[in-house]
Amino acid sequence: MPDSIILVEARREMEICNACRYCEGFCAVFPAMTREREFSAADLTYLANLCHNCQGCYYACQYAPPHPFGVNVPQTFAVLREESYRHYAWPAPLARAFDKNGLVVALTTAGALALVLVLVSIFATGPLAVAHEGPGAFYQVIPWAAMTGVAVLTLAFSLLALARGGISFWRDAGKGAALRPRDIARGLHDAMTLKNLGGGGFGCNDIDESFSQNRRYLHHAMAYGFLACFAATSTAAFDDYVLKLPAPYPLFSAQVILGVLGGIGLIVGTSGLIRLKIIGNREPAAEHLFGADFALLALLWLAAATGLSLLAFRATDAMGTLLAIHLGLILSLVVVLPYSKFVHGIYRTLALIRNAAEASS
Ligand code: SF4
Ligand code: SF4
Repeated sequence: MPDSIILVEARREMEICNACRYCEGFCAVFPAMTREREFSAADLTYLANLCHNCQGCYYACQYAPPHPFGVNVPQTFAVLREESYRHYAWPAPLARAFDKNGLVVALTTAGALALVLVLVSIFATGPLAVAHEGPGAFYQVIPWAAMTGVAVLTLAFSLLALARGGISFWRDAGKGAALRPRDIARGLHDAMTLKNLGGGGFGCNDIDESFSQNRRYLHHAMAYGFLACFAATSTAAFDDYVLKLPAPYPLFSAQVILGVLGGIGLIVGTSGLIRLKIIGNREPAAEHLFGADFALLALLWLAAATGLSLLAFRATDAMGTLLAIHLGLILSLVVVLPYSKFVHGIYRTLALIRNAAEASS
């Protein structure tokens, strides 16, 4: 990544921190910092993505504003992380979507909803507001071929874009190191447990200088909720395409149970994280990035809420409308994922893997 204003600022702060080292026990960033003598752009990008934004070092820092040194590591790293998301995004022309992400999410959502409604108006075998029941009921609203074609195309593009971004990040910030199984296992463990938000047992500074585990638990609810919903969709796709058992599925099937638990996790997690952002102290935060954060959280919330509503009302004449809205939101989510804060999950996990490799060598 080329040197930018924020990279220069991050280097200045890391040089102060490397002389101070007061925060060494807070998280993985400071021990990783002490392994460097000079901070290249790749090293700073790695450290920024290793940071979990717990804000602990801001409240502990004797050089934080209003001190003339103005050290504000959480804020500086938040801006640098966002710059790295944009730099490694693929294809490059779409990377500008990060600049006005809130607006992009809104426009993409509107476009996806419009596309689904057009598909419905073309293909629906009857009026939307009538009850459709039994196996294959969803396909009476949008035929199997149209639903599958759009889903496969958008998901394939999204996965390709996420993979290309992750590979570029690793070549640069991961120094293209060989991936050893034990480092991958350690990195994944630290990512899945959010160890760096643990604060040595006290938690992080969610909203002010007091410690709490709330942000960690809410992030777990959201992330595991997302994974449960993905597992529900994958299981449903396997049943549908391989076993030829079309949706909707019984209440006590694996797909529905995973979908309900995932949907509840997503709603609890995203609602709580939005609240923490609203009531939290803005000084260690990068406030101009809030729009993008809120947009992704709101989209996840809406996707979960409409999914649960579709389940609750699938036997009624509201099913067709709810299905169209839910599919539009899911389509929008899949399209914006590579150009949203979602990529932090990939880059942070890769940073944790590099950290595990360097810590054990
Ligand atoms: S954040 Fe402040 S207290 Fe912590 S290591 Fe850096 S300069 Fe020292
Ligand atoms: S904000 Fe938290 S995770 Fe980030 S560098 Fe500071 S102490 Fe570490």
